[in-house]
Amino acid sequence: MRVFKFGGASVKDAEAVRNMAQIVYQHGIQHELLVVVSAMGKTTNALEVIYNTYIKGGEYKQLITNLYDFHQLITVSLFPDAEAPIYDLMPRLFDRLTATLERQSRTEAYDEGYDQIISFGEIISTHIVAHYLRTIDADAIWLDARQYIQTDSTWREGKIDWRWTQKIISTEVASLLQNHVVVTQGFIGGTLDGKTSTLGREGSDFTAAIFAHCLDAESLTIWKDVPGVLSADPKKFEQASLYTHLSYADAVEMTYYGATVIHPKTIRPLATKQIPLLVRSFILPEAEGTTIDTERKQDLATSIIQKPNQRFIELSTKDYGFIAEQYLVTVLETLSRLNIKVNLLQVTAISLQLAVDDDERKVAKLKTSLPAELTYADSHGLTLLTLLFPTPAVEATLLAGKMPRLSQRTDRALQVLI
Ligand code: ASP
Ligand code: MG
Repeated sequence: MRVFKFGGASVKDAEAVRNMAQIVYQHGIQHELLVVVSAMGKTTNALEVIYNTYIKGGEYKQLITNLYDFHQLITVSLFPDAEAPIYDLMPRLFDRLTATLERQSRTEAYDEGYDQIISFGEIISTHIVAHYLRTIDADAIWLDARQYIQTDSTWREGKIDWRWTQKIISTEVASLLQNHVVVTQGFIGGTLDGKTSTLGREGSDFTAAIFAHCLDAESLTIWKDVPGVLSADPKKFEQASLYTHLSYADAVEMTYYGATVIHPKTIRPLATKQIPLLVRSFILPEAEGTTIDTERKQDLATSIIQKPNQRFIELSTKDYGFIAEQYLVTVLETLSRLNIKVNLLQVTAISLQLAVDDDERKVAKLKTSLPAELTYADSHGLTLLTLLFPTPAVEATLLAGKMPRLSQRTDRALQVLI
């Protein structure tokens, strides 16, 4: 069996849904197929605005109506039959969204409430897609991912209960696939006590990888609006080229350092079962795209990755004591406890220099949690530039005239904070 994942751009309007449905239909005749779908277009962002407006006591009702109209426009174009069952379902889903929103506290449990609301984007999109697939004779059924992807209650970043998830998916979903194309939601999961959780923004790729892992899929295809994994952002770098092949290790590094083409957590569940990941274009579905698997190839084009919003932090001992001996462990423990992601780290005799993902709230907590014997200095608004498989020529052009705050070189990569 195979797993397909379609992101928000591939279902952003009626035309896009027709196109993705054709891809599903063609493959679904020949193979067992599970399809993971994101929220339509920019729906997740719109739901964030709705939730935040509600929390602040603002005019959220009009915003819900706007989101309804956006979906209704797509629905009307896809279902010319005014009696189609989707027309009963849509108002009920939006009523449920409103009712769920109005049950949330405005003062407590922000993250938990966030997951209950933000998850509606995927619930709605998958209903529309499953209904539409049935009208074009694909025998699709809608599966509630919250019953299968089990997480703990780390809201907005749910941790997967792999044993539970593996068991229920391999027993229950496998048999559904024999007779149906299964359509389910990316990004969302459920807790043991029946609440909705989410896996982190852009987490639908991860969902697809979890299903692929648990079903021992022969492959996972992520359908994108780009031809595959590119060596750089073509809007910024004209030398950007397509990788036809990458190893899991290459892909993990690229996504970890900020390549946004696939979610960083996607690779591991696939690599542990050696399931190939195919990244292909839904605009040109016949084109080859990128294959990611165990094989390591030589002579890859230099990958240029920019990770913005970095903060440079320097911690020094006040008494000229060696930092490594006394404070390294404490500082690393504090960073880990506060869930601050360190992207570069350099230790000198009396100081520790770090590049971290900037998060105002977490950094404020870090400052007050550090040992009093250390001085703290920082600057923000920096970018981490990573060159994988760098060549002297690329380095020379990209780094000319730049004075990095931090830099690090390994046999495969050069990283600078600028
Ligand atoms: N809809 C979610 C988001 O926009 C998940 C995803 O698209 O992968 O973050
Ligand atoms: Mg999205």
